[in-house]
Amino acid sequence: MATLPDLPLDWQEELYKKLHAQPELSMEESETAAEVTRRLDEMGYQTQQIGGGVVGVLTNGDGPTVLARADMDALPVQEDSGLDYASTVDGVMHACGHDFHVTCALGAAQAMTEIRDQWQGTYIALFQPGEETAAGARAMVDDGLVDKIPKPDVCLSQHVLPELAGTVMTAPGAVLSAGDSIKVTVPGKGSHGSMPHLGVDPVVTAASIVVRLQSIVSRVIAPGDFGVVTVGSIQAGAKSNIIPDSATLLLNVRTYDESVREKILEAIERIVRGECQASGATDEPTFEYYDRFPLTENDEATNTTVTDALREHFGDDKVTELAPVPASEDFSVIPDAFGVPYCYWGVGGFEEGATPVGNHNPKFAPTIHPTLETGTAALASAALAWLGSREGEGR
Ligand code: ZN
Ligand code: ZN
Repeated sequence: MATLPDLPLDWQEELYKKLHAQPELSMEESETAAEVTRRLDEMGYQTQQIGGGVVGVLTNGDGPTVLARADMDALPVQEDSGLDYASTVDGVMHACGHDFHVTCALGAAQAMTEIRDQWQGTYIALFQPGEETAAGARAMVDDGLVDKIPKPDVCLSQHVLPELAGTVMTAPGAVLSAGDSIKVTVPGKGSHGSMPHLGVDPVVTAASIVVRLQSIVSRVIAPGDFGVVTVGSIQAGAKSNIIPDSATLLLNVRTYDESVREKILEAIERIVRGECQASGATDEPTFEYYDRFPLTENDEATNTTVTDALREHFGDDKVTELAPVPASEDFSVIPDAFGVPYCYWGVGGFEEGATPVGNHNPKFAPTIHPTLETGTAALASAALAWLGSREGEGR
């Protein structure tokens, strides 16, 4: 078993606080990307900027190739943590912990250089932009990621979660849901509020749609299947005595299974079309899909390898089962582009007795130690499960 350098590395806490104080929104992470590039260059990685992200490649003889991915973006949230290293940017905050991801991934990158006599192969440190908007991984793939770096055998990633600090959690199969947002435009026909018979009222149609959509989870998918259908926004009209021309609904769908996802999306379109037809509207409704997150589904064999490595490093009691999280990620876009398996795990960030605050909350403030050490060691030890075995040696 490889031995990691002492953690945290001497620069990690300072860098974490700096990133936390200077958050950048999705697809605007230029300062963060420059900082990451500079540090990877100093460590001896071959760096490239791809699609707003940064990739560093460290080649260390023949062997497998492992890609470790971190995300860099912050959220449009006004920080209310009271920390002395709180965000200095108005209305922008690292409320999802991606500053931890960057600091841990840079730490793992340096650790791999320091212990290069203990492994063989290629280690790729990838930092993507725009996770929160599901745009960043896709942007890197669209900018030619697959042709610009060596093909990995496996991809790894992790997320800070409101769980006990010092622990890590993983599981085979679906660990994060697929997410789909849909903008539905419901057609109508404008009229004076006193002359409804001359129009087609999209407010009534939209109201029927909202009620009928609730039957998808209870009546369309099987009782044991997971699905969420939320109408997060409904907008129509501006005045009490005008029947508007159209109504707009914003829907959000979460699923853990591709066939369930298809069934739900089909049912949504069917219900909307049916209600529009019932209203007598002459125009068709329109469906605009956006912020589409794929399913995050850990490969079973890959997860076993990672789990064994994490147990060996942290001890059995520090590695727990990750319950499926109904949040979504675009990480899997990267391994899917290469056609390779992946594992995604959680890193606890809250001390015992502390009331955990959920990701995206303005008070989200994971404890720095041992979260930095845990996330750094988790990435490096998982990567070494592939890279640490030299020819002629057993694992
Ligand atoms: Zn987030
Ligand atoms: Zn996140």
